Amino acid sequence: NQDEDKLTEYMDELEFLAFTAGATIQKRFTQKLTQPDSKTFIGSGKAQEIKEYVKENGIGTIIFDDELSPSQLKNLEKEIEVKILDRTNLILDIFAQRAQTSYARTQVELAQYQYLLPRLTRMWTHLERQKGGIGMRGPGETEIETDRRIIRDRISLLKDKLKTIDRQMATQRNNRGKVVRAALVGYTNVGKSTLMNALSKSDVFAENKLFATLDTTVRKVVIGNLPFLLTDTVGFIRKLPTQLVESFKSTLDEVREADLLIHVVDISHESFEDHIESVNNTLMEINAHQKPMIMVFNKIDDFSYDRKDDDDLTPSTKRNISLEEWQKTWMGKSKHPTVFISALTKENFPEMKKMIYDEVMKIHIARFPYND
Ligand code: GDP
Repeated sequence: NQDEDKLTEYMDELEFLAFTAGATIQKRFTQKLTQPDSKTFIGSGKAQEIKEYVKENGIGTIIFDDELSPSQLKNLEKEIEVKILDRTNLILDIFAQRAQTSYARTQVELAQYQYLLPRLTRMWTHLERQKGGIGMRGPGETEIETDRRIIRDRISLLKDKLKTIDRQMATQRNNRGKVVRAALVGYTNVGKSTLMNALSKSDVFAENKLFATLDTTVRKVVIGNLPFLLTDTVGFIRKLPTQLVESFKSTLDEVREADLLIHVVDISHESFEDHIESVNNTLMEINAHQKPMIMVFNKIDDFSYDRKDDDDLTPSTKRNISLEEWQKTWMGKSKHPTVFISALTKENFPEMKKMIYDEVMKIHIARFPYND
């Protein structure tokens, strides 16, 4: 049953990704296999079932939640006779659509080529085997070799370009001087941009889609005469394609160099605990997990999830919960300062601001010990 809940959640997320990419989902298919079929990923009976559905309903695309091997993709497309995308493809597509600065565009392009390259290689190996291995070099080989060379050249060019921009950005960060820097981190779509807007009175793009933010935005924020810099970062997500983790590492420099992390959580999402974990794992990967952190549980206005393990919060269907009550839950007992807010209705905003002020002040005082 728990497995099934997880499955539904994953499919919900995939559907949301597809929606973000501009697709409408007609039907979901799932299959339990101890091991994916090496040739077609799903079993042949399931493939047949999907094929019939596709034919009857004029479906244009099938999306898989996992990454398919190049041969699985090819075999399935041949079998079902429809365009097939995997999760990596889908996410790359969204990133490509949403990249706005030349930096983000370069990162996405790099990720796309990195995704493509091993696929060309494996396609080639496959061809090679068909033709009888080394020594049987047909015309296809030169073409693929040329393609691979072009792609490799392009990849190293893009990497150089990123390095140059990285250096420029590092200089920019240095020039920001000794002002305390806070970074908003969190799973995608939890409300980071909304919070950024509310705190800085700026107009950052907020939308109920995944990855509305691809580029980092830095804004100056002042709370009680204390100025600091606030950065909005790219949303984290489960199973982010490895090519993207790599190329977005430099985007995460803002996080790595921040003095304070503000970890935003969407408490109205039923798998918010998984989201916290996945964010913490990424922070660990980039070695930023030991920075001072404030936990901000957002969207309390939309909290309607019956949590059976929270004796003090059951079953809470959209009733008002006071901050004191929230603080008594397991979430409030985190080792980090924790607050529960709604970025939309601004509930508990004064408390959150006070908390941010205190943390920023601590860092500020440690940095300028001799000033009053
Ligand atoms: P980001 O991806 O983390 O930057 O998230 P956004 O700021 O783009 O917000 C994602 C969606 O959640 C948008 O539709 C927001 O309007 C919505 N949202 C943000 N904060 C709240 C909140 O406190 N309550 C509710 N109900 N929705 C919110």
